[in-house]
Amino acid sequence: MRAAVQHETGRPRLEVRDDVEAVGFGPGKVRLRMRATGLCHSDLSAMSGVLPQLVPFVPGHEGAGEVVEVGEGVAGLQPGDRVLVCWLPPCGGCPACKRGQSQLCLASLMEAGTPNFRLGGADLFGFAGTGTFAEEAVVGAGCAVPIPDDLPYDIAALIGCGVTTGLGAALNTADVTAGSSVAVIGCGGVGICAIQGARAAGAAQIVAVDPVASRREAGLRFGATEAVPPEALADARARVTGGEGFDYAFEVVGTSATARAAYDATRRGGTLCVVGAGAMDDLFQINMFELFFDEKRILPSLYGGGDVLRSYERAIALWRAGRIDLAGLITHRVPLSGVNDALEQMRTGEALRTCIEI
Ligand SMILES: [Zn+2]
Ligand SMILES: [Zn+2]
Repeated sequence: MRAAVQHETGRPRLEVRDDVEAVGFGPGKVRLRMRATGLCHSDLSAMSGVLPQLVPFVPGHEGAGEVVEVGEGVAGLQPGDRVLVCWLPPCGGCPACKRGQSQLCLASLMEAGTPNFRLGGADLFGFAGTGTFAEEAVVGAGCAVPIPDDLPYDIAALIGCGVTTGLGAALNTADVTAGSSVAVIGCGGVGICAIQGARAAGAAQIVAVDPVASRREAGLRFGATEAVPPEALADARARVTGGEGFDYAFEVVGTSATARAAYDATRRGGTLCVVGAGAMDDLFQINMFELFFDEKRILPSLYGGGDVLRSYERAIALWRAGRIDLAGLITHRVPLSGVNDALEQMRTGEALRTCIEI
């Protein structure tokens, strides 16, 4: 079957092959026929080595499709079921899951060293244990989450990562309050969902910050009250908040420089919510005096910062009610053979989300 392969870390382009095999099917597993997958920025970060990932591998972790085969002992799933892919499935039994913080469950990552695919007799890994840039994938049953009939595959795929991450940052982690002021630094697909979450929560002012003009325009389209390039953030902070700083600043890029900019944009006692996935050698610096004296709350948000299954349901409910726009996030569409075009659209900032139709 067809899949896109990253042979070694640092290569900018994927190779689309027709001779990849999805492996590992057995008890507790399901075989999926992928129908749609989004390209998330983390895929690029895994390809470049910013995020740790065994190579060679099949990228993609934001997908949806149908179940074609169900392994022994799997309850609640049948061939033909429509599902989205959860790349961090809750085990349900660990202390984090029991506390309702299933986004911190590490159980599925324990299998990260198990190959998900084979190519010409050699092992291939799947990014984050999934690998959705493939016609077929074998995943743990917990990774396959049934979706309602009215939810199209392309939107379901985005709920599997970007939508949940952005909305959850605003609604779970930061818990944005009505009437508040918000800045969102980084307006790709995830940042746009943080904007939509802040709007759904009733934020009064939402400033979208991005160097790319089309992304600033998208910010306005999805609920920002104004949009500025990074060099105009200090001015917007002075104008919008009277110089006090934003109640909430979201960092949705994943660098220490943007995290610092977001920290500086936050008011004393306000909340810096760090959503971007950054590198292990990129250090965020803050001095002990400001840390103590300004009492800013620094809240990292992983995969939406809450129970992921509940976050999916909330996203679907908000979408169905017309309170958030998810179809509008998909600005580009390509077939799997065009995956390198999708990478380019992400690198230039031209796409919010490219849907890869499989
Ligand atoms: Zn768990
Ligand atoms: Zn992602």
